[in-house]
Amino acid sequence: MGHVPRKRFGQHFLHDRHTIAKILDALDPRPGDRVVEIGPGLGALTRPLLERVPHLHVVEIDRDLAARLEQEYGPERLTVHRADALEFDFSLMGSNLRVVGNLPYNVSTPLLFHLARFAAGLRDLHFMLQREVVERMVSTPSGSAYGRLSVMLQYRFEMEKLFGVAPGCFRPPPKVDSAVVRMAPLAQPEPVAMDEELLAAVVTRAFTQRRKTLRNALGGVVDETELQSLGINPGLRPENLTVADYVRIANLASRRAGQAA
Ligand code: SAM
Repeated sequence: MGHVPRKRFGQHFLHDRHTIAKILDALDPRPGDRVVEIGPGLGALTRPLLERVPHLHVVEIDRDLAARLEQEYGPERLTVHRADALEFDFSLMGSNLRVVGNLPYNVSTPLLFHLARFAAGLRDLHFMLQREVVERMVSTPSGSAYGRLSVMLQYRFEMEKLFGVAPGCFRPPPKVDSAVVRMAPLAQPEPVAMDEELLAAVVTRAFTQRRKTLRNALGGVVDETELQSLGINPGLRPENLTVADYVRIANLASRRAGQAA
C-alpha cells in the first residue's frame, strides 16, 4: 500500500479476511448505530464497516493515514478526527456509542483507562489487543492474571474474550499473540465507589505489593480491625479480593476521611 509501518504508532495492519469477518460479525453493526473506530490505519476494518453503516467516525494519530482515508471517502461517509485517542473527548460524538479498533498495543492500557471515563456514553467496545492484556482484563479473583487492570475495568464493564488471533494475520506480524475482547458498560457499578480516585489508589497500592498479605499491603489505608469489620481476612493476598471488596475498602477509607474532616 506504499506505507511504511510506523513502530512508534504500534502499526500492525490486519490482512486476514477471516479475522476481519469475525470482528465484523461480533460487532454486528446496524445502519442506525453510532460507530467510532480507533486507529483505522489502512482501513482493514473501516471499509467493511462502511459497507454496513452509512457513516463512521475514526480517530487516527498518523496524519498520512488520516489523509488517505479522507481522500477515499467524503465527509458524508467518514469523519476523520486527526487526534491522539488518549486525549480525545469521546463524549463529543454523543451517547450510545459503539467503539471498535485494532488498538496500538503500546498504549492499550492507558487507552482503556481513558475510555472508562466515558463509560456512561458508550454502548459497547470491541477491541483487538495483546492476548495477555485481554487475559488480565477478564481474569477473576485468585487467577494468575488478576490485577489492577481486572479490578478497575470490571468495576465499570462486563467483559468477554471472544477469540484469539495469530501474529501471521497482521503485516508486519507482532511479536505477541492477540485476542478480541467485547466490553459493555455496567448499568451501575455494584457497590458504587464514593471516591473513584481513592478506589484507584487503593487498588494500585494493593497490587504493587501483591505478594504481601492485605494487612501489610494495605497498611496505612485500612488496618486489620477495619478489614475484619468488612468480613475480609487480613491474611489474604491482594489477588484474593473481589472488585466489590476493593470498593468496600475504599468506601470505608472515604467515610473515615469524611469523619475526620
Ligand atoms: N485498524 C488498522 C488495522 O486493523 O489494520 C490499523 C491497526 S494498527 C495496530 C493501530 C492503528 O492505530 C494505526 O493506524 C496507528 O497509526 C493508530 N494509532 C496509534 N496510536 C494512536 C493514538 N494514540 N491515537 C489514535 N490512533 C493511534
